[in-house]
Amino acid sequence: MDCNRCGCEMFRATLTGGLWPVLLTNKKKGFAEEEKRCAVLCYVCPQCGSVELFAEDPKKLQLD
Ligand SMILES: [Zn+2]
Repeated sequence: MDCNRCGCEMFRATLTGGLWPVLLTNKKKGFAEEEKRCAVLCYVCPQCGSVELFAEDPKKLQLD
């Protein structure tokens, strides 16, 4: 994908807060409800340093 700011080709990177890549989570209220999880795709622009984040599979996160 191309950078929104400068049009450079962005490269994939992993966004992490330590040991693990970050995850998006979503959950209905209630103890027994299943927690939904989705990986985060991260792209970095080598020119301006802009970072774009995307949910890998956003449908997996949606609560019905
Ligand atoms: Zn850029």
